[in-house]
Amino acid sequence: MNRVYNFSAGPAVLPEEVLKEAADEMLDYQGSGMSVMEMSHRSKVYDNIIKTAEKDLRELMNIPDNYKVMFLQGGASQQFAMIPMNLMKNKVADYIITGQWAKKAWKEACKYGKANAIASSEDKTFSYIPDCSDLPISEDADYVYICENNTIYGTKYKELPNTKGKTLVADVSSCFLSEPVDVTKYGVIYGGVQKNIGPAGVVIVIMREDLITEDVLEGTPTMLQYKTHADADSLYNTPPAYGIYICGKVFKWLKKMGGLEVMKKRNEEKAKILYDFLDQSKLFKGTVVAKDRSLMNVPFVTGDKELDAKFVAEAEKAGFVNLKGHRTVGGMRASIYNAMPKEGVEKLVEFMKKFEEENS
Ligand SMILES: *Cc1c(COP(=O)(O)O)cnc(C)c1O
Repeated sequence: MNRVYNFSAGPAVLPEEVLKEAADEMLDYQGSGMSVMEMSHRSKVYDNIIKTAEKDLRELMNIPDNYKVMFLQGGASQQFAMIPMNLMKNKVADYIITGQWAKKAWKEACKYGKANAIASSEDKTFSYIPDCSDLPISEDADYVYICENNTIYGTKYKELPNTKGKTLVADVSSCFLSEPVDVTKYGVIYGGVQKNIGPAGVVIVIMREDLITEDVLEGTPTMLQYKTHADADSLYNTPPAYGIYICGKVFKWLKKMGGLEVMKKRNEEKAKILYDFLDQSKLFKGTVVAKDRSLMNVPFVTGDKELDAKFVAEAEKAGFVNLKGHRTVGGMRASIYNAMPKEGVEKLVEFMKKFEEENS
């Protein structure tokens, strides 16, 4: 067996320990005589898995009792519709456009009401986070929407926008559990887990209870109503059972590592290794304004497309895979999520140094 250093933006690297544990339990989960994939989601054994996962997540994020935690399907992209369908009571919402995912969410919301793009960083290929201290928030806005970490462009809000008292909704797909957050500052925190938590197929939605009502857009399908899932503790229908089980294992792993404060420190250390190298390199350049840099996704370029391609190809041969950047940015992107060991980043930088020497 030969595991690579996987810098994929998602689905992405998972802790090796978690994968090994899951492999050990594959044929017989804790004496049940079956795998978690084969058991009823209504069984006692499974009930314990999903309840423990929720409890551990609540502990990790310090989620207050007046917030519901839902394990849903449909990917983060389905939330682009569910949020306006459920929350646009006045049919008005404000969106801050910091990348492709925020833009898609905004476009989807436009189908259901008046979605205002109140700020954008598209003028500079989303390489920065706009100043959000005094935005033209609509008086009757039901919520203000952000994508907190921009997976493709490698930016992150270091400070939440001033929503002037309006409910904040945040897509945290690519920074979920990467550092502590104050949940009370948000109405909704959600993300697909395939970036920083678990396998594709699960979306976690953390929502303040007063936002979960029957007063939704007319015709909203039962399955797209938060109340359906909140009232049934995510067991209205068959949930993505195996994926939730893996998420639960990752929550245990994070607790064992020391929780989110420790993860933040680790992630800062890892990112610093890469950014410090980029800042002094004569060949490679980071593409993001320094103050808005993400700890999770690090895009960089050489400025020469052919050299970029050569780098990606040689890196792959050396065991550093999935470094090709998104087509809208070009170049490279190293996603260094929670499960990427520090050693992986150090070795990548060594490899980049060597490549720089050989190609300049
Ligand atoms: C990947 C990603 C999405 C899309 O996720 P799907 O689960 O594929 O729908 C949305 N938002 C962000 C920030 C992402 O990184």
